Amino acid sequence: MNSKQPAFVRDSTDETANFSERLTVQVYLGPRSYEIDIVSDRLAWLARYLENCLVRLPSPPRRPYQLLIVTDGNVAKPHAATVRHSLDNAGWHTESVELQPGEQSKSLAVVSGIYDRLVEMQAGRHTIVVAVGGGVVGDVAGFVAATYARGIPFIQVPTSLLAHVDSSVGGKVGVNHPRGKNLIGAFHQPIGVFIDTVTLETLSDRDYTSGLAEVIKYGVILDDEFFAYLEENVGRLAARAPNVLRRVIARCCRLKADIVEADEEERTGLRAVLNYGHTFAHAFEALCGYGELLHGEAVAVGMVCAGRLAEFRQLIDSSFSARQCSLIDAVGLPTRLPASIKLTATDVLDRMRLDKKTVAGQLHFVLPTELGHVEVYSDVPETDVRSALDEVLA
Ligand code: NAD
Repeated sequence: MNSKQPAFVRDSTDETANFSERLTVQVYLGPRSYEIDIVSDRLAWLARYLENCLVRLPSPPRRPYQLLIVTDGNVAKPHAATVRHSLDNAGWHTESVELQPGEQSKSLAVVSGIYDRLVEMQAGRHTIVVAVGGGVVGDVAGFVAATYARGIPFIQVPTSLLAHVDSSVGGKVGVNHPRGKNLIGAFHQPIGVFIDTVTLETLSDRDYTSGLAEVIKYGVILDDEFFAYLEENVGRLAARAPNVLRRVIARCCRLKADIVEADEEERTGLRAVLNYGHTFAHAFEALCGYGELLHGEAVAVGMVCAGRLAEFRQLIDSSFSARQCSLIDAVGLPTRLPASIKLTATDVLDRMRLDKKTVAGQLHFVLPTELGHVEVYSDVPETDVRSALDEVLA
């Protein structure tokens, strides 16, 4: 194991306390600023962390704090129970609500049930929502916090890799409409994010590997040095080595936080770079029916498509695609759709035109111009898109 600290961690997480134990990433958003703490096996310290977040608030809630933990059935026993124990031990009034695991819980009906629970608790502006779970729990709990009593504080305790590196950072919260994913939502920043790599020990191999697609994405779009670090550490990532995970998660959070700080509410278009591979991925997911293909699997194939498209546009040479494909493959993600999924390029193109990010039928693509840099293009010929798709469709 190379004990030398990679430069990307040193440069960006200047707030780090002790590299071997805990990394901290600051998200600077004026009065909505918060800290992301990345630790291993410290879930039992959650009350202490939360107390630190609360005292930094302009008008901290009164003690003893009143908290509602939102979790799901897969996370409740292994992790939310530890969180609750920590909060109970601190003498705070804690209740919890457990959602059915899965995307179907991202609904207004589920949100309404949580509002009922808050009303029963006589919750007010000083009640704190604690989201302990993957992206689904974070999005639902965050949306409840954004809307109940016109906004109450919430903290994220993400438990899936995707939630560690993506959904828990940035304040996008929301639920699905029966006719469209994430159509109902808000921007509501957490007051803190507490990431413990121990939670990944119980995550299924498939969900863990799926989360690695977003990790690779950050390297491709923003940081070639980080991409190289991932290439060198494929084995340790597969083994879920806590020290490598902490560095990787911290770097992803820093990169996402940089973008969120510059474009908090997606107004300037800067945040669009995070959608690398996603124009294709959203179409694949929607056409397959959500669940058949996990989000990260769809993103992996979408990144392969975007890479090939950039090659056809002569933005990059074939060595980029080769490197990207080989890392995607090395971590166990697909580089093409499985044979069981039968789609045509026309199916995918038609679906992409329905995407809520498509403006007036004009498709936009986030394409690499070099490893670590992408640009948004709206003038891509359909023939090139079809050729890129033909290479990944069964
Ligand atoms: P998820 O929350 O459904 O979690 C995936 C599965 O893993 C679920 O079955 C869950 O119960 C289980 N799980 C989670 N943590 C676990 C753990 N530690 N141990 C055992 N099982 C565990 O899905 P996800 O992949 O975490 O997130 C996907 C969701 O995130 C989507 O709804 C997506 O729209 C959303 N998302 C939001 C943002 C954002 O900025 N808000 C960004 C990306 C994705």
